[in-house]
Parts: sequence; C-alpha cells; structure tokens
Amino acid sequence: QRDAEFIRRWLEAAAEAVARDASRLTELDSAIGDADHGSNMRRGFAAVVATLADQPPTDPGGTLRVAGRTLISTVGGAAGPLYGTLLRSAGKALGDDPVVDDERLAEALRAGVDGVASLGGAAVGDKTMVDALLPAVSALPDYPAARQAAEEGAAATVPLRARKGRASYLGDRSTGHLDPGAASSALLIGALADAAA
Ligand code: ADP
Ligand code: MG
Ligand code: MG
Repeated sequence: QRDAEFIRRWLEAAAEAVARDASRLTELDSAIGDADHGSNMRRGFAAVVATLADQPPTDPGGTLRVAGRTLISTVGGAAGPLYGTLLRSAGKALGDDPVVDDERLAEALRAGVDGVASLGGAAVGDKTMVDALLPAVSALPDYPAARQAAEEGAAATVPLRARKGRASYLGDRSTGHLDPGAASSALLIGALADAAA
C-alpha cells in the first residue's frame, strides 16, 4: 500500500540523487547539449522538496500533481516540462485516493510515461529519457527489475543517434555519448526502488 508519504520519500530520494550527481549530468549534457541538465534537475527537485514540505498533499495523486506542476514552473528547458508531465499525468491517473497498491501505482506511472512520449514525440531508440523510462515502468511493480531496466535502457543510448531534443542537432556526432535525460531517469527510478525497498 502506497500513500502520500511514500511518494514524498521517493521524490526526496530523487532530489538527493540528482543533487549528488548534478555535475555528472551536466558533463553528459555538455557533450551533446548545452551543459545545464544537472543544474536544471537539481533546481527543479529542490523546489519539489520545498513545495511538498511547505504544504504536503494528503494523497499520493495530489503529491505527484503538485510535484509535476513545480517542475514545470521551475525548470526551463526540455526536461522540466517532460518530467513535470510524467508526474502530473501519473498523479491524475491516481485521482484522490488516499492509498493505492503497487499495481495501481505502476499503471499510473505508465500513464505518466505515455504523457512524456506524447508531449515530446519520442519513442524508444530516439536517445532520450524515454529509453530508460519506458522499460522501467514496464517492469513495475517489480522495483528492482525496474531499476535494472532503467540502467540498461540508459546505457543502451550510448551508440544511438539522437532523434529528439537538442542533441538531435548534432546528427551523427551525438553517437558515442550517454543521453543525460536517460541518465537522470535512471536516478529517478533508482530512487523509487530505494523508497520501495
Ligand atoms: P535542454 O535540452 O532544453 O537544455 P535538459 O538539458 O534539461 O534540457 O534535458 C535534456 C534531456 O531531455 C535530453 O537528454 C533528453 O533525454 C530529454 N529530451 C529532450 N527532448 C526530448 C523529447 N522530445 N522527448 C523526450 N525527451 C527529451
Ligand atoms: Mg540541456
Ligand atoms: Mg537548456
């Protein structure tokens, strides 16, 4: 059974992970983007933690919706609206139920990733966060399997040519680099698995 407190613990763990790895994420983005992914993610998730501490919603769906809205309003650039949509769409799917089971949460996160894919137009293989997120949510509610799928999906972006986002401007020169958004997605899924353990 998962409640608002569980979602808050997940997002706090995610905030710690992106803060810890912010310079690595920014380095990845400096290779095939504009060197801001780490700072974007750190700023956005710090704002999420602050917002949730200030006025914590009492249900998991509301918690996800507030967090998503906060990401959208604090992060300029592609990842803010995309991760914001992930959380908001998942939150909408949960409605206002005070507790949900792992299967419901998995379905909601799948709806969230559908939201990301329709907003950004990316499919698996386009070298984006979707390469890590889609296999991860497909493996849920097996949390350790989701963590592994996200890490493998991220690693698999290295040889790919980017077809979406800023990295796609590089064409063939985007190959041979890990996608920064896929790397941050692996951190977010890892934080979820930690919170569930
Ligand atoms: P920006 O590129 O605007 O500076 P960020 O650096 O914060 O934004 O995020 C870049 C990441 O966003 C990429 O590594 C990629 O994973 C993801 N991304 C960019 N465009 C898309 C898209 N259309 N669909 C899915 N993910 C995308
Ligand atoms: Mg960037
Ligand atoms: Mg940018």
